[in-house]
Amino acid sequence: MTMIPLLPEVAQFIARTQGLRIGGKEVETPQSLRVLNPSTGAPLADVARSGAREIDLAVAAATRAFQKGQWTIMGPDTRSRILWRLADLIEERAAIFGQLDALDNGKPFAVARDVDAVWAARHIRYFAGWPDKIEGATIPVNIPDRLNYTRVEPVGVCGLITPWNYPLLMAVWKLAPALAAGNTVVLKPSEETPLSVLYLADIALEAGLPPGVLNVVPGLGSEAGAALAAHHGVSKVGFTGSTQTGRAIVEASAGNLKKVSLELGGKAANIIFADADLARAIPGAFWANFGNNGQSCTAGSRLFVHADVYDTVVAGLIEIAQGLRVGPGMDDPGHDLGPVISERQMEMILGHVDGSQAQGGEVLAGGARAGGEGWFIPPTIIGGVSDDMTIAQKEVFGPVLSVMKFTDDAEVLARANSSIYGLAAGLWSQDVTRVRRMADALQAGTVWVNCWGETDAASPFGGVKQSGYGREMGREAIALYSQTKSVWIA
Ligand code: NAD
Repeated sequence: MTMIPLLPEVAQFIARTQGLRIGGKEVETPQSLRVLNPSTGAPLADVARSGAREIDLAVAAATRAFQKGQWTIMGPDTRSRILWRLADLIEERAAIFGQLDALDNGKPFAVARDVDAVWAARHIRYFAGWPDKIEGATIPVNIPDRLNYTRVEPVGVCGLITPWNYPLLMAVWKLAPALAAGNTVVLKPSEETPLSVLYLADIALEAGLPPGVLNVVPGLGSEAGAALAAHHGVSKVGFTGSTQTGRAIVEASAGNLKKVSLELGGKAANIIFADADLARAIPGAFWANFGNNGQSCTAGSRLFVHADVYDTVVAGLIEIAQGLRVGPGMDDPGHDLGPVISERQMEMILGHVDGSQAQGGEVLAGGARAGGEGWFIPPTIIGGVSDDMTIAQKEVFGPVLSVMKFTDDAEVLARANSSIYGLAAGLWSQDVTRVRRMADALQAGTVWVNCWGETDAASPFGGVKQSGYGREMGREAIALYSQTKSVWIA
């Protein structure tokens, strides 16, 4: 097995301790974070570690940039051009971003380059079209001789806190609408995967973003994340991560009653009906869960299969699982799936697998660590799962699929909706009446029918129940990062 050679930019980037990016400058810190390569378990890079003091500095820089109004007063056309240029630079350097995320997160290089980086560029381009379309209204009020109109204004300094599963893409999902709406940003990437977002801060300056508009502050959640969520200079927090952390962020936000939007965990139900086109449904359901190695908030980890097709579906899933190659993100030729993000996560995932067996589940594929180096778990399928088992209720966030049998529509609907989560759900059926009825009744922010995982910068995305609130993407994302002012003129 050979490794894809590191690009000179990537080799240089990881060779020295990366500072924070505050006010357009690199800032060193007394302590650093050691970032590990999940494909080997070995140290990959060191980056500065921000604490409360550095969060103060970053919020101050973002506040100055917001108050100076450089970003907001430069005119919508100029803002659009800068965002567009940023998207072009990401695309031009997709291989650099791809290598950074493949090393840092473990996902296959080709996926990190051709999906994460390319979609990040596409996402920014969509929002680059917004600055000259954020309009207020004139209101036909009842009081005579009064002009009443609204202005849609940025909220101010936005604290964005992101996870490790799509390091670049999750940051861009929040950053693009926040910047398009005219805000300034302090972005805290996950301590597991800060590299691509630090690099993003550099090319944002190159694209023409004024210093201080985007500040990047890697650090621990309990230090940097908590300080950012509680900071009184921050007007809005946009967060993606676990439901538990989401709760902590809501509590921390109470001090200055900042706006909060949350994209949290999931335990998505994916339902294969007896009339489904199984040639599509079987691989579709497989990748609904195992895409990104199961480390997706939308992972279709509860697969309900109608009793009439259960055996066929399970046999098909096992065949795909056993035909896949799992290996390091930077191996050449690449693999289908990489490692999981950390040793802690690997132990947690394997603990769930053991627990499911103790509760009566049967491991049909995978189920144990692969290799002694790096944190690899092959695609794991658990049959005989019932709704009361822990594996059917808790988000595993790894390559583990629970398969469950059902016999009628009302029964499966109730079971699908019995989760505390409601991020996504899926249906595989040829019956349009059934599809419409189920899509209406499923408690989820997104329902995919005969497909899975599609998102588009123009289409709203977010959860119901404990999967969070607020809709990222589309016009609703602009609303998430804006506030309306009503002006009365006599
Ligand atoms: P997490 O919620 O702990 O971390 C996400 C981000 O929040 C990171 O940047 C982290 O540093 C920060 N953070 C942690 N504690 C914080 C606090 N008290 N205040 C402010 N910020 C804080 O998630 P994780 O450790 O990256 O993963 C743990 C679990 O979260 C996973 O097993 C999975 O269940 C879930 N998860 C969900 C998503 C998603 O997209 N919905 C993504 C990643 C992880």
